[in-house]
Amino acid sequence: EERILEVKNLKKHFNLGKDRVLKAVNDVTFHINKGETFGLVGESGCGKSTIGRTIISLYQKTAGDVIFDGQNVHDLSEKEMFKLRQKMQMIFQDPYASLNPRSTVREVISEPMEVHHLYKSKKEQNERVYQLLEEVGLNRDHANRYPHEFSGGQRQRIGIARALALDPDFIIADEPISALDVSVQAQVVNLLKELQEEKGLTFLFIAHDLSMVKQISDRIGVMYLGNMMELTVSESLYENPLHPYTQALLSAIPIPDPDIEESRERIILEGELPSPINPPSGCVFRTRCPFAMDICSQEKPAWQEVETNHFVACHLYNEDVKKTKKPEMVVN
Ligand code: SF4
Ligand code: MG
Repeated sequence: EERILEVKNLKKHFNLGKDRVLKAVNDVTFHINKGETFGLVGESGCGKSTIGRTIISLYQKTAGDVIFDGQNVHDLSEKEMFKLRQKMQMIFQDPYASLNPRSTVREVISEPMEVHHLYKSKKEQNERVYQLLEEVGLNRDHANRYPHEFSGGQRQRIGIARALALDPDFIIADEPISALDVSVQAQVVNLLKELQEEKGLTFLFIAHDLSMVKQISDRIGVMYLGNMMELTVSESLYENPLHPYTQALLSAIPIPDPDIEESRERIILEGELPSPINPPSGCVFRTRCPFAMDICSQEKPAWQEVETNHFVACHLYNEDVKKTKKPEMVVN
């Protein structure tokens, strides 16, 4: 499989002054194959948006590499980056916030085309706007209206049309459905899937829980406090979650069937999410992990492939630890 993106040992730290450093992203490694959707999941503040913004070079990295289409993104000149930006676009959680309220839908969608001088005539550009509106399930009559006249789901469609304006290969969707009603969420997810199939798009789909991500993702990475905890193909993550944090996230998703809901085992996370300014030593999840052992406060667990295509950072899967302690993976 051909990789469109490689993120290698990426670190993004923010210097807050007075020796305080926010470790938003700490040594994260993953790749995204051409044409797939990679889901990136974790509670707010875990660093997933920071990864998105660092990939697209809105943030400079602290360390590591971001390689897109064979090019090291942070080594590019401004001119080269400008060209590359045509290929990478972003969709945001609240499309209204990223859309200028005084611009018409036509202006919102045309803006990136104008910035990149895509069309010589207004007529061609307008035709493209109409085409994009239709592709996202709106129509040309919407072009002269204002974003605030639309519902949340329709505004997200406008945001998607704008992201498609430059005919990108890769789209970072940063919680594109989190602010929408559940029924509308499914519509937007279906639209993204259709567009992916038609255009061969690749997505990085960022979400704060695991409920909708399954529908859209081929593979999923789970983050906690700036670190990647587990990464595997979607089915394995839902059927065979290995990391205690993933297990906790999954047990937080309600199951519609009351019989299953009542009888199933849950992992409830105790305690507060620690601050990324002062993260726990060793495994950053240890202050909330029901399986924490002595070694967890002393050593950061290695990122290892424990089954084919199934990566996890947890001492329970460390061979030496396994010899001395049989992991008890189910709690009641
Ligand atoms: Fe829990 Fe230790 Fe695994 Fe961290 S390394 S998730 S604290 S068992
Ligand atoms: Mg975010």
